[in-house]
Amino acid sequence: MGTSDSTVPAVLSIDLEYFSHTPAYRTAAGTTNESAVGREAIPTILNALAETDSTATFFTVSEMLEETPEVVETIADTGHEIGSHTHTHKHLSELSAAQRREELATSRRRLESVTDQSVVGFRAPSFDITEDHFELLEATGYEYDSSVVPCRSIPGWYGGEYDETRPVSAAEIDPTAPTALTELPVAVMPGVGLPLTGTWIRFFGVRYTILGMRLLARRGIPPVLYIHPWELVDLPRVEGVPARVYVRTGAYMRRALRRILAEPYEFVAANTVVEDRVLYGRG
Ligand SMILES: [Zn+2]
Repeated sequence: MGTSDSTVPAVLSIDLEYFSHTPAYRTAAGTTNESAVGREAIPTILNALAETDSTATFFTVSEMLEETPEVVETIADTGHEIGSHTHTHKHLSELSAAQRREELATSRRRLESVTDQSVVGFRAPSFDITEDHFELLEATGYEYDSSVVPCRSIPGWYGGEYDETRPVSAAEIDPTAPTALTELPVAVMPGVGLPLTGTWIRFFGVRYTILGMRLLARRGIPPVLYIHPWELVDLPRVEGVPARVYVRTGAYMRRALRRILAEPYEFVAANTVVEDRVLYGRG
């Protein structure tokens, strides 16, 4: 491995939500009686981070504080960054501007009340953002966003909207955005233009993700990955949840997490990369 591979850090972010928050579950015909599906993966994630001296960012659906506040408190006490993944995990584009603002403001306030941290980072459910997104983020006290996936268009899903792969001022993404706000795009395979992370770890395998991380690092771009706790558990079968949701969830993803963290990067919180944004600009 070349030394250049380890000159940039990597980010492992966790979109902290339960299976019941996912659009796939919410739109399915069936239901499950199992509560907080995904919760049992959180100790696994925390142990894997601790064993490799890694710090992570947990973009958290703040609604889960009502049911399981201790989950978020434990994570924050361990020294990881808490960011917002909205209050209820609804798609922002399906809400009014006032409701969007409320999702951003409420989640930030509630997360700060249990963590004693300043909550400055945000990730949108399903990477679904609107024209007023950056303006609303600034108005509600955020400093960075990580809701851009600079991938090719994937029909019926997302993509094709952005090509910025480096951490930049949000104004580089949207000229009307506040310049002080940072956008931290999620990792995409150079040249191929498909995402490296989330579902794509399970579709293409962890070796694909690790190769993509190396290619980004060689370009001086910190790879920003994300996973969901519910991907690391054996999901209950629910009528109407698409088959793709079940592909390689459970043991495969628990191993994948450890493989990724064993790679020779310093894994840092997303806000650390945001603070060092100028280091990773177009050189
Ligand atoms: Zn989510």
